[in-house]
Amino acid sequence: MNAPLPIKVAREAEGAAYDTVSKSSNEVAGRLAQRLAAETQGEVLFSPADRGRYATDASIYQVMPVGVFVPKSAKDARIALDICRDLKVPIVPRGGGTSQCGQTVGAGLVIDFSKHVRKVLDVDAANRTATVEPGIVLDHLNAHLKKTGLWYPVDVSTAAQATLGGMAGNNSCGSRSIAYGNMVHNVLGAQAWTSDGELHTFGRFEEATGTARAWGERVRELALALAPEIDAHWPKVLRRVGGYNLDVFRNQNEKPYTRDGSVNLAHLLVGSEGTLALTKSLTLQLAELPRHKVLGVVNFPTFYQAMDSAQHIVKLGTDGTLTAVELVDRTMIELSLQNPAFAPTVRTALIGQPDAVLLVEFAGADKAALLRKLAELQELMGDLGLPRSVVLMPDEGPQKALWEVRKAGLNIMMSLKGDGKPVSFIEDCAVPLVHLAEYTDELTQVFRKHGTKGTWYAHASVGTLHVRPILDMRREGATKMRAIAEEASALVRKYKGAYSGEHGDGLCRGEWIRWQFGPKIATAFGEIKQLFDPIGLLSPKRIVDPPRMDDTRLMRFPPTYKVIPLQPALDWSAWDVQNDPATEKTTAPGTGGDAAKGFAKAVEMCNNNGHCRKFDAGTMCPSYRVTRDEQHLTRGRANTLRLAVSGQLGPDGLASEEVREALELCVSCKGCKRDCPTGVDMARMKIEFLAADRRKNGYSLRDKVIGRLPDYAATASRFAGLMNLRNRVPLLAKLGEKILGISAKRSLPEWESCHFFQSGVPGASRAEVLAASKPVVLFVDTFNAFFESANAKAAFHVLSAAGYTVHIASKETPDGKHLCCGRTYLASGMVDEAKAKAGEMVDALHPLAARGIPVVGLEPSCLLSLRDEVTGMGFGERARVLAGQALLLEEFLAREAAAGRLEELRGKLKPLGKPILVHGHCHQKAFGAISPVLDVLKLVPGAQPQLIESSCCGMAGSFGYEARHIDVSMQMAELSLLPAVRNAPDALIVADGTSCRHQIHDGAQRQALHAAVVLEMALRA
Ligand SMILES: Cc1cc2nc3c(=O)[nH]c(=O)nc-3n(C[C@H](O)[C@H](O)[C@H](O)COP(=O)(O)OP(=O)(O)OC[C@H]3O[C@@H](n4cnc5c(N)ncnc54)[C@H](O)[C@@H]3O)c2cc1C
Ligand code: SF4
Ligand code: SF4
Repeated sequence: MNAPLPIKVAREAEGAAYDTVSKSSNEVAGRLAQRLAAETQGEVLFSPADRGRYATDASIYQVMPVGVFVPKSAKDARIALDICRDLKVPIVPRGGGTSQCGQTVGAGLVIDFSKHVRKVLDVDAANRTATVEPGIVLDHLNAHLKKTGLWYPVDVSTAAQATLGGMAGNNSCGSRSIAYGNMVHNVLGAQAWTSDGELHTFGRFEEATGTARAWGERVRELALALAPEIDAHWPKVLRRVGGYNLDVFRNQNEKPYTRDGSVNLAHLLVGSEGTLALTKSLTLQLAELPRHKVLGVVNFPTFYQAMDSAQHIVKLGTDGTLTAVELVDRTMIELSLQNPAFAPTVRTALIGQPDAVLLVEFAGADKAALLRKLAELQELMGDLGLPRSVVLMPDEGPQKALWEVRKAGLNIMMSLKGDGKPVSFIEDCAVPLVHLAEYTDELTQVFRKHGTKGTWYAHASVGTLHVRPILDMRREGATKMRAIAEEASALVRKYKGAYSGEHGDGLCRGEWIRWQFGPKIATAFGEIKQLFDPIGLLSPKRIVDPPRMDDTRLMRFPPTYKVIPLQPALDWSAWDVQNDPATEKTTAPGTGGDAAKGFAKAVEMCNNNGHCRKFDAGTMCPSYRVTRDEQHLTRGRANTLRLAVSGQLGPDGLASEEVREALELCVSCKGCKRDCPTGVDMARMKIEFLAADRRKNGYSLRDKVIGRLPDYAATASRFAGLMNLRNRVPLLAKLGEKILGISAKRSLPEWESCHFFQSGVPGASRAEVLAASKPVVLFVDTFNAFFESANAKAAFHVLSAAGYTVHIASKETPDGKHLCCGRTYLASGMVDEAKAKAGEMVDALHPLAARGIPVVGLEPSCLLSLRDEVTGMGFGERARVLAGQALLLEEFLAREAAAGRLEELRGKLKPLGKPILVHGHCHQKAFGAISPVLDVLKLVPGAQPQLIESSCCGMAGSFGYEARHIDVSMQMAELSLLPAVRNAPDALIVADGTSCRHQIHDGAQRQALHAAVVLEMALRA
């Protein structure tokens, strides 16, 4: 047996290294960057903006790292470790950066494993194990495993973002932990480097050798010596993640860490938050994918009853089939009902107006047995005095939809505007189930006493209810946070719970470790740190010697936070509000005191939760999906903007080079407007940047050529033959690339010599449409008028065939120019010109819209700007009235069909006899306008249109035409759209966006059609 190692707490060494770097000597940083660049293949990111983007996670904290390193491989990470040791620069390892307590925020070198170090190294289906690199995301691992019928069951809400390395770092816990346990229960082994550069294998203690064995023995000695302390202080609940897992040698957990009672040394690393070693790989215990799941939604008249019932409900799980009991409270129900995407789903789960519901899930191989469990649940609720309180959901579709709402729970709450925000610091205290009702009741009173409130949700099965009181961190938030934390901790102690029950310690709860475990165990934690990391290189000041949770110098919004005054180009006053933490009521628009008139507060809505790091369904965020760079992520962009508007990137503010770089690949798809839970609308924010940038730097020739397209379109079409030569003469294309930056590899849309407005389409006059019984205005945009007039003509024919009197949108006093929404001007930063164009549109169409006449358009980005940007241009109520009547053709037709007013058209449509594939324009998706396209195409007899699950097509207006973007543009298209098109050679491809059709043409050599044309084909078939 090896001799016990000397015990010495390494506080001084740690502190010294930390302080050296936090003072951020340029010389050290310079040498570090230089060596990383010279000795590794990884990305070395040391600019102020890069450091700023990695200075935050989903917590309230912000600490500037000395630099960021994105290793290309595990080997790079190891080299970086050696360099950091040489230069005495601490390391902060990072995965998705979704930690809520500041675990990935620190003054050293942040090493981001998530971009490249993410391989599945091995899957042993027979033994149900997998070995992975730390940067792989849980959902990606589970997608990889699907074919084996296995999954990794620690199903955190952030499954689409959380990396296995980060999950192990935090000892994360999923909704179904009652059945599967936490990370610590599901890790079988780890390979990790300690700060001396040694790679160790951590696994079963009895098989350990060398240093790992020696450390294991020392930890065992500590555990044995501290047995009475451990027994007295260690929380006896499943959900305890604070401190180090000293209890591997003296189990205190409701569920032993290993099935056979053995000790696994990898469990010492689980929950160590990057303070002991850098994980190179993890070996994981997989589980069989449950073949069936059933859900019972129990409706409670009072919150207290829901909490009180949880202890009885979990007893139904003695046979192992109970997999989750999750809470959704009244506030969350109401917020979900206000969200059009969630409301229909939530309604299916409600009986009357419950104060809370519990989602009770059973899973297993035998569906009949599971249905019997649901019957038992009903019976139990009857016994508890709540008969007929359970909504049964035996089928997977409705269950999945409801789980999505539950998973979105926190994010739904985070959309509160104003400086008061729900703050995470006691959100995962875990108490024994028998005390859950009293605990939640008393904590609610604590909130009330401090003039705030919290919304409760999540894991009732294991006594970990999430709750975030609303606090204004720029003002008295830090003081209130401390006061509430102290009262909450007293309750946790009273009920013998765990203060840190799911989200880890980080900066926020480190100081509570001593409080929770007592001084002797806290000292033992210091000794464990000393064993593994005697030089204090790895995430110093975490778990051991942590800072105060309320140290405002470490916060993202300290009281000194200031915004550079700014007059935005668009109206952001809706964000410029304050809120009342007790009622959540917000003040009137424009009263929030934002020096940037609401723009800064809109930017600050991003709370860094990382939801935009997803690759599944939905649009957000196409550029990140291609580059996987934090800079090209909605979160990275919002952070860059926040740093810029608050002067943290220098005096140029919004017009800075850093903002330009961060927004360079934003395709303004509005994916974030819909998919970001807090509604960060980067496309709109990009307009502000463009305006500020062009004010400072002027317009390029390309800006003018693209922006002013609607101005010269009529003249250009007269010379269509000449204009189109560019597509036929390679020299001209090359010249265009040189002068305008438009890629010579791209074809350009072809001008039509006889454009729509010359084609003699017999539109009704204003007087006629005002007098008509079925009136409609058809807004024909520049693209469909001058390049693809067949679409506009088709729309006119379809509307006429359906019996509508169609007026072609035009100015009241014609001046020979067509109406334009201003989109191309906005995209070029010409906000004043865009406002002038949109103003003409509002003048012309408001009188018709005010009479209730729908204004129907074809090009999603043009028509939908009437519902979006134009309402923020200062036209007041007139713009809102127009927005209320502005509909895409399919939205209008679907609405009319639902009202039974489309029978005439329906009778005229003939089958097309071809499969139909639909690609939705991003703005259609952002405005929920895709399902009407499918609905309307289904009017064609026999048609069964299928939606392509695609993000942005990558063309995005002029973006994909530009030489510097063509590669990224094509990569976006290749993610899913182009393969889907190629896989359906016989299908009609429907795409309403001009640029989407062009991208499909260039990338798959197929002609995509506007839905109007498909309907017209069915009329003529
Ligand atoms: C909206 C929201 C919902 C959440 N829901 C849940 C939930 O249901 N359950 C839950 O448990 N948590 C939840 N969390 C917290 C968080 O998502 C999880 O802890 C998640 O597992 C963190 O993964 P990550 O990849 O983002 O890790 P990060 O935040 O990047 O890192 C986590 C820790 O691991 C360390 N680390 C990362 N990589 C390594 C490595 N290679 N070597 C050593 N250390 C490393 C980091 O230093 C850090 O201490 C939620 C967070 C948010 C914002
Ligand atoms: S942009 Fe939205 S989704 Fe992304 S981190 Fe910020 S709040 Fe979350
Ligand atoms: S607008 Fe689109 S590309 Fe830009 S940040 Fe949002 S999702 Fe990403």
